[in-house]
Formats: sequence, C-alpha cells, structure tokens
Amino acid sequence: MTTQAHDLAARFGPALDTRWASLDASAQDFGHLVRATPLGVLRPGSAAEIKDVLEFAGPRGIAVSVRGGGHSMYGQGQAGDGIVLDLRGMRRIGPVTDRQVTVQAGALWREVLAATLPHGLTPPVLTDYLGASVGGVLSAGGLGGATHRHGLVADQVLELEVVTGAGDHRVCSPDRDPALWGAVLAGLGQCAVIVAATLRLAPAPDRVRRHCLYYTDLTRYLADQRMLAEEQRFGHLEGQARPADGQGWQYMIEAVVPYDGPCPPDDGALLAGLGHDPAALETEDLDYPQFAHRVDTDEEILTATGEWLHPHPWLNLLLPHDSAESVVRAVLADPAFQDLRDTGLVLLYPLLSARLRAPLFTRPPGQVPYLFALLRTAAPGSPETAAAMVAANRAAYELARSRGAVAYPVNALPMSDADWRDHYGSRWSALADAKRRHDPCLVLARGHGLRF
Ligand SMILES: Cc1cc2nc3c(=O)[nH]c(=O)nc-3n(C[C@H](O)[C@H](O)[C@H](O)COP(=O)(O)OP(=O)(O)OC[C@H]3O[C@@H](n4cnc5c(N)ncnc54)[C@H](O)[C@@H]3O)c2cc1C
Repeated sequence: MTTQAHDLAARFGPALDTRWASLDASAQDFGHLVRATPLGVLRPGSAAEIKDVLEFAGPRGIAVSVRGGGHSMYGQGQAGDGIVLDLRGMRRIGPVTDRQVTVQAGALWREVLAATLPHGLTPPVLTDYLGASVGGVLSAGGLGGATHRHGLVADQVLELEVVTGAGDHRVCSPDRDPALWGAVLAGLGQCAVIVAATLRLAPAPDRVRRHCLYYTDLTRYLADQRMLAEEQRFGHLEGQARPADGQGWQYMIEAVVPYDGPCPPDDGALLAGLGHDPAALETEDLDYPQFAHRVDTDEEILTATGEWLHPHPWLNLLLPHDSAESVVRAVLADPAFQDLRDTGLVLLYPLLSARLRAPLFTRPPGQVPYLFALLRTAAPGSPETAAAMVAANRAAYELARSRGAVAYPVNALPMSDADWRDHYGSRWSALADAKRRHDPCLVLARGHGLRF
C-alpha cells in the first residue's frame, strides 16, 4: 500500500470503497478508451463531506475527480491513483416553486424532468440524452435543440452551491461572487465541485410536432438551418448528416414546434421558403415527455445489442458558419470516417452565438456556429481500431481548427497544453488565475488534461 493509500484509508475508514469492482468501474467511462484506476471511491452525502475530502486531498496533492453519470468519453472523470467522488448519492430534487427548482448535482436530467413535469414545467434546454448528471452537463455547458433560442443548459442556472478545490463551501450567482460563477459554469470542473444548482424552469408543452426535412444539397441545408436559427421559427432545431444511396450523404433538419390544446401548428407558415424535398417530408406528433425521452429507445436497443458498452471514440466540433460546409465535406469524405455510414450518428445543427452566455464556453467566430458531432462505436477487443479512430478525431480536429473551428470538449480527443491554451485563447489567463485561487494544489479534474 502506498503512503497516500494508507493515509486515505486511515482518514476515511470504511467510507473509502476500495473493492475491486468499484475501482474497476471508476477506472472506465462511456468512452471505454482509457483507464486510470483510483485509490478509492468516496460517496459523499453532503457539501461538508466533499469539503472534508478536498481539504484532505489538496495538501497531499491527491487527484480528485467527480463522477456523476459516468458518460465521459476519454477519462475526463477518472482519477488515477486519486479519489473518485461518486455524486450519485446526492440527487435530491426540489421542491419545485415559482418556476425554479434546486437540484443536487448527482441527479440525472431524466430525474430532474420527472420531478418538474408534474408541475407542468421543464428545463428550457435539455441535452438529447437525459442520462448524464446535472453536474456533468453544467461543467461541459450542455447543448440541445433549444440552444439556438435559450443558450446552453448551463445558461439556465440561477445559482450554484459549490465546494472549491481549496475546500471553500460557497454559493455563487451572477450577482454573488460572479468570478467564481463564471469559472464553474462550462468550466470542466477545474475550480470547484458543483454540489447543487438552482435551475430556471419554463412551461412544458403538452405536445410537439416534429418535422424531418430532407436535403441532398449541403449548401442549401446549411443556409436553411441558419435562417431557421435566426428566425427562431421552431422551439427545437437540430439536424443530421445521413448516408445516401451510393457514396454521398443527405441531410435532415429536425424542426420541432411545441403546442398545447387541440390546434396543431400552421405547417404551411412554418415550412414556407425552405428548400427540402417536400415528397420526403416526415411529420409526427408526440407527447412532450415522449419527445424529451426520445434517446431512451436508442439506449435500450444499443444496450440490448451490447453496443452501448463498446468503445465510443466520439468527436464534437463547433464549426464557424463560413467554413462549416468545407469541413463537413472533407470529414465525411475522409476514409477514416467511412464507418459512420454503417453505424453511428452525425449531428449537424446551428447555434446562435449571442445566446451562449457562460464565459468559459468556447465558441468559434461568427454569429451562427454549427455543432458537428461524429458519434461512432468501435468494435470491442480491438484497441488498434479504437486508437485509429481517436487518431482520426485528432486529424479532423486539426483540419477543422485550421478553418476556425473549436472543440466542444466532451470528446475522445487527446489535447496538448498548446491546444488548451489555443482553445481558451485570451480567456486562458483568467481560467489559470481562477484555478490558482480556487484549486491551488491543482487536484481537481485532472482527467480533462488541462495543465496549469
Ligand atoms: C449518449 C450521450 C449523449 C450525449 N448527448 C449530449 C447532448 O445532446 N448535448 C451535450 O451537450 N452533451 C451531450 N453529451 C455529453 C455529456 O453531456 C457530457 O459528457 C457530460 O459531461 C456527461 O456528464 P456525466 O455526469 O454523465 O459524466 P461524468 O463522466 O460523470 O462527468 C463528466 C465530467 O463532468 C465533470 N463533473 C461531473 N459532475 C460534476 C460536479 N458535480 N461538479 C463539477 N464537475 C463535475 C467532471 O469534470 C467529469 O469529469 C452526451 C453524452 C453521451 C454519452
């Protein structure tokens, strides 16, 4: 046993879980690409317990990572020879009052929605998948179909309760300790552990009408996506590139409008002036909860086939409007990404830069960036294949970056010190100052690979 392991066991006693199965589970994540085994797992039940851990770990230089839903792609939530703080025990929600709710950071978004819907309310922006934790999504930023209207999931937070890396238990908001607030939202867990967040809520619609609009022409697809984002015709706007017959790709705008009562929306007005193939238009009406949970079915199917547990070398890029077309064409024609034609998913949808408020959320230049997400699965038991896919991610990142793009940093993408400095640009020194102030021993969230 190392000295640190001995000290940890002496300090936390039976609360420190060192069983093989627990260490093995915390040494992996959804990506199944990298592993780092911690010395132990702690399951705090309160901010005071998180504070105890950080006050102990800091002076000893013991790495501390937070695990919520465990959906990191490349070890972001792992802590080799350190402590994993498993926050799933901290998932208290509510009560829902006055169009807001305070939720503990270990709650999953599907648990948050289950608590708000009986009050006729919903978080205004949700990620596609509801199985990530509140803390995990707020630390990344959180993008979804309503981001072009309302901003990031993180932009809907009214107040945060945190414990900093130095062990300070603080409450922050735009008015109360705004510097800490700005360092935590979309801050990749570098400065503090989020204990709880007070979220703004909006009325949940009864139903939504979902249109799938198909395009063969990428130029027209991007122009229509941009127009729809700017005009805000729809409540939810996403889209995909999908393999077409033969070698090419086609594109699908997913345009969703919420409605209440018996009167459906005016499709003629909503779809006017768009260049999709009208013969291919697909329209369906869904209950709002059914729509919000739409990825659950994919999770069930992929869990049944086993793919959900295979390696996931995912890459999420944010492309400037001006170079989006050239990057999409280049990457989708790259032989290294051809497996996306058989399995996987390519998301391609617009955001509005002016709506993205969390200062640490890095976006490319221009008013209308696009999320370009290359979501694929590697066969298990073939580390060479998975490594080649990560290398392809790296090449795509470099290509896109040379045309003004940035990473949405929830990726299977090795990033160097220079990459991170480039990612944050002029905000790097503010982040580094915040890190030194709030996590002076640099113990928090090392798995993201930022070095200060
Ligand atoms: C199937 C799937 C679909 C996804 N869809 C979307 C999507 O539509 N939009 C989108 O934006 N993202 C999406 N993501 C990415 C996802 O939002 C991020 O990877 C998120 O960080 C995962 O959170 P988690 O709690 O599950 O992960 P974890 O691995 O538990 O945590 C991830 C990281 O978050 C930080 N963290 C977690 N909890 C806290 C806390 N309490 N305080 C401080 N830091 C914390 C830590 O640094 C940790 O390393 C998706 C991921 C998957 C696997």
